[in-house]
Amino acid sequence: MRLLIMGPPGAGKGTQAEFISKEFAIPHVSTGDLFRANLAQGTALGVEAKKYMDAGEYVPDSVTNGMVRDRLKQADALSGFLLDGYPRTVAQVGELDGMLAGKSLDKVIVLTADTNEIVGRLLNRAKEQGRADDTEEVIRRRLEVYNEQTAPLIDLYKSRGLIVEVDGLGSVQEVTSRILSAINL
Ligand code: AMP
Repeated sequence: MRLLIMGPPGAGKGTQAEFISKEFAIPHVSTGDLFRANLAQGTALGVEAKKYMDAGEYVPDSVTNGMVRDRLKQADALSGFLLDGYPRTVAQVGELDGMLAGKSLDKVIVLTADTNEIVGRLLNRAKEQGRADDTEEVIRRRLEVYNEQTAPLIDLYKSRGLIVEVDGLGSVQEVTSRILSAINL
């Protein structure tokens, strides 16, 4: 099973992705987590990515695509995965199509949430987890970048018949069961 979860920053993608990947026993491949793991280990890729992440900008494709390509080649991802945070641009969709070599995603889950709710959630997460990219200014920039560069992917995947839209408001459990019944694979 090959799934992608999308939605604005703060919609709860990461939390939901954990549950869904457990449910289907597929690895959760989050580019944000991969960047943060690289940064924690002090790799050159992590140091490079941080410059962009801290500003709420997207990390360049020259860094991002290769990292995803390597991850999807690992044994645990060969029979399926849940992508979280990639692709985020139309160009990355083309890259992913190439990596999948003719295979299609099965579903693209879009978590929807309202902007004010999102900003509140992210400011809360900043307090709890201390993420450097969760200041109000950076949050607003991340939402802008999402709307400009990532939201258009919804129509693109709609034209392929893959989109399932799920309301991201509610308890974690409520949203998980909404997702599971919406993908209904
Ligand atoms: P996330 O944890 O998914 O919110 O990602 C955190 C940050 O990592 C984003 O704000 C971007 O700076 C960077 N990032 C994650 N995924 C991508 C991607 N597919 N392309 C470019 N930058 C990304």
